[in-house]
Amino acid sequence: MSSEILEDIKKTIIKKLPKEAHIAKVEFEGPEVVIYTKNPQIITENGDMVRNLAKDLRKRIIIRSDKSVLDGPEETIEKIHGIVPEGAEITDIYFDTVTREVVITAKKPGLVIGKYGSTSRSIVKNTGWAPKILRTPPLSSEIISKVRLTLKNHTKERKKMLQDLGRQIHEGSKYSNDWARVTSMGGFKEVGRSSMLLQTPNSRVLMDCGVNVAASDNKNAFPYLNAPEFSIEDLDAVIISHAHLDHCGFVPYLYHYGYEGPIYCTTPTRDLMTLLQLDHLDIAHREGNPLPFNRKHVSQAIKNVICLDYGEVTDISPDIKLTLHNAGHILGSAMSHMHIGDGAHNLVYTGDFKYERSRLLEPATTRFPRSETVIMESTYGGREDIQPSRNSAEKEMMKTIYKTLKKGGKVLVPVFAVGRAQELMIVLEEYMRHGMIDEVPIYIDGMIWEATAIHTARPEYLSKDLRDQIFHMGRNPFISDMFSKVQSHDQRKDIVESKEPSIILSTSGMLTGGNSVEYFKWLCEDYKNTLIFVGYQSEGSLGSRVQKGWKEIPLEDEGRNKVYNIEMEIKTINGFSGHSNRRQLMDYVKRLNPKPEKVITCHGDPYKTVDLASSIHRSYKLETKTPLNLETVRIQ
Ligand SMILES: [Zn+2]
Repeated sequence: MSSEILEDIKKTIIKKLPKEAHIAKVEFEGPEVVIYTKNPQIITENGDMVRNLAKDLRKRIIIRSDKSVLDGPEETIEKIHGIVPEGAEITDIYFDTVTREVVITAKKPGLVIGKYGSTSRSIVKNTGWAPKILRTPPLSSEIISKVRLTLKNHTKERKKMLQDLGRQIHEGSKYSNDWARVTSMGGFKEVGRSSMLLQTPNSRVLMDCGVNVAASDNKNAFPYLNAPEFSIEDLDAVIISHAHLDHCGFVPYLYHYGYEGPIYCTTPTRDLMTLLQLDHLDIAHREGNPLPFNRKHVSQAIKNVICLDYGEVTDISPDIKLTLHNAGHILGSAMSHMHIGDGAHNLVYTGDFKYERSRLLEPATTRFPRSETVIMESTYGGREDIQPSRNSAEKEMMKTIYKTLKKGGKVLVPVFAVGRAQELMIVLEEYMRHGMIDEVPIYIDGMIWEATAIHTARPEYLSKDLRDQIFHMGRNPFISDMFSKVQSHDQRKDIVESKEPSIILSTSGMLTGGNSVEYFKWLCEDYKNTLIFVGYQSEGSLGSRVQKGWKEIPLEDEGRNKVYNIEMEIKTINGFSGHSNRRQLMDYVKRLNPKPEKVITCHGDPYKTVDLASSIHRSYKLETKTPLNLETVRIQ
């Protein structure tokens, strides 16, 4: 059936495009229709014609050069250096043989593009390769290099995956779309291991696949993939809302057990997810509690990612179109809008979201073309979850730091590597630059540094203010020399043993492993030091015990148990959270446009999930549901 559809599409394309297009072949590749041309010039010209064609066909159209008109890599590099002015300062050129793009990274990308795109057009015309132009990031990222290498080493497999997928997506629906249901697989009436399965008569889509890093045993750590509705072989697609492990930490497991299909997410989510999954494997290995998958499966996941930008409408199965929208939670975090069965039903899954502008990101989107059902998080959905404004949180933070530094103490902030850490870096840089806290070293421990490098490589996902600051005022807070990178045990030891006051940002955020626990052990018995919690502390984590004020805590120290007497000051500062507080959650539902019919709450303690749902029901007269894990809700 799919070949008939392809033949029809081909006929339409040949009819609509002019003869000069010299079409060599037309193929499905994942969600896209790819046209190969022997006249590369049409790639950059005739933009309107292609847009109209995409509209007519209701498909995403990509035009690429036919192999016969592509220059060899060496020749192409030489030509590019001839065409692009030297002032562009090209730092890297590489070839994506699947997309037939030449990726040019330069310090001044504007000069590679040229006036009205003239330079980049000239590259296509002369080499056949379509240029993709990137700005050289100020910090280099090992993870982005690794991701790129993985993609490069597996072009054939990736191409095959995309072609198989293309056939499957465009096959057409077998059954009429008269129902849709969502099964809670994890993260309902709890925080951690978020996962849910959307089923229609024609599709099975998994939304998120996380782990609970604070769980005491494997039974509570992973989603219920043994639910009778779920089978890995039947899965059509996986969508990942954002890179936190409680939303993506179990994805490699799917590849270990036979999943071969795609993962849809934004580019920053792919990169940050890889970083966090690899780190999770390392920590689990070190702690002698290995995970049921390994690094190979992380690479397999990378290969199968299809990156989507916000707002891009994409067919992910015969009857579901997916569009990602900004969620304001961490870099690349997304709300998923699913248009099911030609508009029979529209589902929005918010993932974690922040409905407030932060220093790092724009607030979450409230506008969708249509939405009947919304599945939303309720982490801070309890009526008492009123958080101070970001502004007063910042002031309190600075007061605490100021006092600690004056005592000659050290400040330890255990923090998630992704999101809060960068938010704090921006705040600290500004306050220190303005002399509001003493100038002391700010130590950024290993993984946070890497996550920051990924932020600098994807500036288009940052807030407008921050982008303006970086590009128009030439001040990038992330590369300030106030920050020092820490990578080794010896370096850590030197920092804690030094008499000098300092500020330390280190993972993990809940003291559940990682170097923050090491720093904690070193610093906790000295009253001069302060520990500041800025994020959620899961029940059962060391962070939660410390936060509750335990004074004696037994911890392992070089293989022996030791009781630590907590003397350091313990402070919790709310308001830096990447989650919406109660008021913002309620406001969000109020502002949703159009108004949904049904709201399902997830991702929160049982009481908060229910409290938020009942308030939404009472205030806005909407049907609400608060399923437990393993329950199924019919949405259509
Ligand atoms: Zn999150």
